[in-house]
Amino acid sequence: MPMTINPADAFSQSYAEARAKFRATAQAAGADLTALKHPMLGPNGEELACDVARFGATDAPAVLWINSATHGVEGYCGSGVQIGLMALGWHRQLPAGVALLLTHAINPHGFAWTRRVNEDNVDLNRNFGPQGVALPVNPGYADIHQWVIPEAFEGAQRDAADGALEHYRAQHGDRAFSQAISGGQFAYPKGLFYGGLTPTWSNRTLRALIDRQLAQAKRFCFIDIHTGLGPLGYGEPSYVGDPTEAAFAECRRWLGDDVSWLERGTGQSTPLHGHIGLPFRPLYAQAKTGPVLGLEFGTLPSSEVRAALRADHWLHTYGSLDSDQGRAIKRRIRDVFYVDTDDWKHQVMVRTDELVGKALKGLAG
Ligand SMILES: [Zn+2]
Repeated sequence: MPMTINPADAFSQSYAEARAKFRATAQAAGADLTALKHPMLGPNGEELACDVARFGATDAPAVLWINSATHGVEGYCGSGVQIGLMALGWHRQLPAGVALLLTHAINPHGFAWTRRVNEDNVDLNRNFGPQGVALPVNPGYADIHQWVIPEAFEGAQRDAADGALEHYRAQHGDRAFSQAISGGQFAYPKGLFYGGLTPTWSNRTLRALIDRQLAQAKRFCFIDIHTGLGPLGYGEPSYVGDPTEAAFAECRRWLGDDVSWLERGTGQSTPLHGHIGLPFRPLYAQAKTGPVLGLEFGTLPSSEVRAALRADHWLHTYGSLDSDQGRAIKRRIRDVFYVDTDDWKHQVMVRTDELVGKALKGLAG
């Protein structure tokens, strides 16, 4: 579809601005618009919610679903994508029998507070594992946690911690280091990539949305917008749907050969326990079909992303949000997940536009 708007106009500078812009755009576009309110408030006392815009018949046999802010702060990108898709007019060009569903900020607390995690320090994309089974142990993270979030942000203790992490990486290799630090862990509630022990608000909200919004659908495609991994501006589709070869092959036929498969470890991300594809799995047993994907846009080098995440976790564990240091750490974490340039936003919109076109074609059959 030709780009008729300046994509930069679809992006925002705060959660509150993004939310207002999303709701206004969806309303003007004629969406069926609802809000699922979060029980807490944002840093400026603003209401938090997952806003839901749906276009097309309620009993449409196919649904294209674009989700944002699974990882809070990454919602700066996802929100821009969702508003940009409406500005491009996709809701007016839906094939017969295909509905478009936009869920704005499934983790509104993380978005508003400029965190990747939610109100419980939980990484939502590690929180969907089955209940009542033993949680996986990440021995690598246990080895390094004390150095990942040292008590002191600066000085000798911090230098020693950084040195120990570098030593660990040199000894075990980059892939093992990545798995240790970002593969997810369930033992350190204040640590990085903590998956949580029970379903969070965002988890329960997503499950309720799946039950309600896909009840009548026979085919669906769920695309979850992420940032922070991979080359600057590139958007990698990372498959987490039906774990059969046939279903993955079908997804590639729809979206292209550059779709990677998370559980096979063929993409940028290491395999994850409790990822967001899991709550969709019961649908396959009900004879519904369709891919579930993350769409991961590259920002800055992973060393910088990790440094910003460590700083943010340190800030919420030991530091003060209302300080120059706190504000600098917040600016930094936003910058590593949201490249605030017209070029990057343009790349993001062009890639999403391309994949949305392909997904709609696939859904239309
Ligand atoms: Zn993410």
